[in-house]
Amino acid sequence: MKKVLFIDRDGTMILETDDFKIETMEKIVFYPEIFYWLGRIVREFDYELVLVTNQDGLGTNVFPNEPFYTTHKFIMNTFAGEKIIFAEECIDCHYPHDNKDTRKPGTGMLTKYFSADYDLKNSFVIGDRITDVVLAKNLGSRAFWLNDGRGLGVGEIKETRESLAPQIAVESRQWEDIYNYLKKIG
Ligand SMILES: [Mg+2]
Repeated sequence: MKKVLFIDRDGTMILETDDFKIETMEKIVFYPEIFYWLGRIVREFDYELVLVTNQDGLGTNVFPNEPFYTTHKFIMNTFAGEKIIFAEECIDCHYPHDNKDTRKPGTGMLTKYFSADYDLKNSFVIGDRITDVVLAKNLGSRAFWLNDGRGLGVGEIKETRESLAPQIAVESRQWEDIYNYLKKIG
């Protein structure tokens, strides 16, 4: 059975911006030390990588596909150049009020992982928002929460932080701590 790291993009692979919209090159700042630590995770452990990101309103006038996708390709190509290859990219373009199960923390785009081929119990979600932790709960996985203090969400979820505590493997702002946890569990 394959284990998966479901990885958020904004706030996790690249730093979040104040407008929560990263569509141009000059807004890209890669998360500190991510290439080193995620690179080691990829080389030393056996996890499939899956990108899971909400991009509210992408493809509409307020957030057109271009330059978003050109910028996105640059980000993913940069990771690929470091041999950090994603098996799948799941990008949801809805708003919270659309109530779509494809939008995190929904698992609508991840149905194929609920199968005998995947070991979700020993898989992890890595993200900066509490919704990423809820996604872990919905998958039956656990979470690495890169909580920068903005991660508590905006009333999108019913769960409390306390009720999600068992889901959180590590809460830290350092990718190094994620590596160390995975190293510890082997
Ligand atoms: Mg995020």
